[in-house]
Amino acid sequence: MNTVQYNTVVQFAYNLTVDGEEVESNLLEYLHGHGNIIPGLEHELMDMQEGEQKKVLVAAADAYGEFDPNMVVKVDRASFPEDFEIQLGEPMNLRDQSGHMFQAIAVALDEDSVDLDLNHPMAGKNLEFDVTILSIRPATEEEIAHGHLHYQGGCSGCSSDSDCGDGCGDSCCDGCC
Ligand code: ZN
Repeated sequence: MNTVQYNTVVQFAYNLTVDGEEVESNLLEYLHGHGNIIPGLEHELMDMQEGEQKKVLVAAADAYGEFDPNMVVKVDRASFPEDFEIQLGEPMNLRDQSGHMFQAIAVALDEDSVDLDLNHPMAGKNLEFDVTILSIRPATEEEIAHGHLHYQGGCSGCSSDSDCGDGCGDSCCDGCC
């Protein structure tokens, strides 16, 4: 019987519940044992079999971390473009001075300044996963060496249009990430 082990490629379906509310239902395929999914979940999937279902509770510290009050920062309102509409409580995609994209939520606003929460939206949340293991296969040597999945000989991240999804920075991603 196939079980989830280090260096296996695992496909699983999951429902994610946070604070009693289902927030996500999806399929995911990943390389086990390389930190490609949140540690608390990866740990619990170890040794599961194909077709097996499990409820996995992951405490905030083992998921996206505790909420960090130091990650709420005050920025000058003037640093936003004039026509940019700042919406309180909505995740916004922003760009810093060196051009890096990041996500933040405006939590307070006055004429001169904006308080931005840079914590991950799931920070401080306990996550409840309903997981079903769909398939398990051995990883290829290349996948093990890179520490992530490859599809048809390429990096998993390279299938997306602009950004290398896993940010691997491997040479196999040169030119596409
Ligand atoms: Zn790669």
